[in-house]
Amino acid sequence: MAEQADYIINTGVDVDEDRTGDCIDCFACVRVCPTGIDIRNGTQLECVNCTACMDACDAIMISIGKPTGLIRYASENSIREGKKLKFSGRIKAYSAILLLLISFLVFLLVSRTDVDAVLMRTTGMTYTSLPDGRISNLYSLKLINKTHNDIPLTIKVENGMGEIQVINPANAFVKSEEYSTIQFFIIINRNELHNWKTEVELGLYDKKGKIKSVHATFIGPEVYD
Ligand code: SF4
Repeated sequence: MAEQADYIINTGVDVDEDRTGDCIDCFACVRVCPTGIDIRNGTQLECVNCTACMDACDAIMISIGKPTGLIRYASENSIREGKKLKFSGRIKAYSAILLLLISFLVFLLVSRTDVDAVLMRTTGMTYTSLPDGRISNLYSLKLINKTHNDIPLTIKVENGMGEIQVINPANAFVKSEEYSTIQFFIIINRNELHNWKTEVELGLYDKKGKIKSVHATFIGPEVYD
């Protein structure tokens, strides 16, 4: 008791342990902080959440036999009321939404194709009647290669109807991570057309096999039975 009285007289500081908390002003958290802030002043914009201060503080607390977690992730309420974080209904709902979003993202990544393709009939053109009686339509195939490899492409008619004639076969590949446009004709015998619009299914193939299907609408002359 006498010692405590001396201490108060000598320092002039009234030490109230209930109010001062466990921090011993070792500055370990300030020294290890990569952004040079003093986290004891509260959360700050410069903090990059590296948690180095937490580890440094815990190491000091262990060495002096005090409870760890002096610097930790906690809400103001939980510190004031001394309550631990509860897995509340709101947290459960947010977690479920987050899980759904992550699952959706994973699904998009897994189901992602290497090549994106958009097929359009060349604007301003309908169909052309060839001298041998067949009908042709001109198409532009816009391609996006999402891989790091060049993809040589072959276009095939899947439903056995007609044939493909690429205008410049040397351009029938897509460079890695680039866009490309391939122009080609679909040529179909007039007697194979049963309407003025015919759906044609095309397959895009690289060296390993089919990489994508695209649908083309083929226009021909009106058919009278
Ligand atoms: S988490 Fe990292 S950046 Fe933030 S205060 Fe602690 S040591 Fe500094």
